[in-house]
Amino acid sequence: MSSLSIIIPCYNEEAVIMESYRRTKAVADRLDIPATIIYVNDGSTDRTRELLNGIAEADKRVCLIHFSRNFGHQPAVTAGIHHCSSDLAIIMDADLQDPPELIPDILALRDREQANAVYCVRRSREGDHAFKRATAKAFYRVMNAMSEVQFPLDAGDFRLIDRKVMNEFGRLKEHGKYIRGLVSWVGFKQVPFYYKHEARAAGTTKYPLSKMIRFATLALVYFSNKPLRLAMGLGFTAVVVGIVLAVWFSLGKIYGFSHAESGWTSTITIITFFGGVQLLTVGVLGHYIGVLFDEVKARPEYIIDELVSAGEKPKREGCPG
Ligand code: UDP
Ligand code: MG
Repeated sequence: MSSLSIIIPCYNEEAVIMESYRRTKAVADRLDIPATIIYVNDGSTDRTRELLNGIAEADKRVCLIHFSRNFGHQPAVTAGIHHCSSDLAIIMDADLQDPPELIPDILALRDREQANAVYCVRRSREGDHAFKRATAKAFYRVMNAMSEVQFPLDAGDFRLIDRKVMNEFGRLKEHGKYIRGLVSWVGFKQVPFYYKHEARAAGTTKYPLSKMIRFATLALVYFSNKPLRLAMGLGFTAVVVGIVLAVWFSLGKIYGFSHAESGWTSTITIITFFGGVQLLTVGVLGHYIGVLFDEVKARPEYIIDELVSAGEKPKREGCPG
């Protein structure tokens, strides 16, 4: 019989964590396979840590990974997968936007389809405001247009993965991980599960615009070289425009149809245009070099302050499955 771990990253979720645990536990109790919960506390600065410690003390099926500081959502999920020793894992947000009550249906779908992964597709995003809905929709489509790998549209990190996928994920060396992309990338049999993305049960989003932009850039840079090629294309276009203008102005001067010498505006326009193109292309190149630099430094993706398993500090690394 297989076992399940529910991996939940949490960052400053004091407002929702107790309710989230209550609903997740109720579902875990009803499952016909043994289930554990792995909470990854991503350096919360509110009461999340003590609330989680209280939960783990009372419920021995709860494993806690406390980070030394805030490393981000993707490193938190990564740590959960690395420390999971169950046969199956479900990745879920703490804020109940992904309803834990769907877990039995997800497991049933996996059994029916004999799939290695089930990715949950948001059929509607009730809880998200118009800006988030529009940017998310655009993001998944731009990613597919830019990337060499095709990803399922409108699927977040809410998904089930089996031991095969977890083992392959564990072998990935890159430090910047776009998890939903990587899970698609490893392959095997993956099937969609459609659901309604609920509103956040309590608290506020931990993904402000700055984090959303960083996340989208990570996804794009790690899965596509197209921005580099686009930069080259832009540079090439600028050169062609420059040559055409130079010929045009020279001929104009010879045959007297251009009054460029008196044209302050055209000079400024050209300087600004070429300056912009240069900065943009250097910026794109610089970003890839920055990412390369981070990868070469090979710092760990996360640092664990404390691991609590079965209510105590475990002897060996990892959460029981
Ligand atoms: N999260 C995290 N570290 C972060 C930001 C978010 O572990 O730096 C967690 C957060 O606690 C939640 C999940 O990642 O469980 C998704 O975050 P959130 O719900 O705030 O994002 P949104 O749904 O608004 O995009
Ligand atoms: Mg959320």
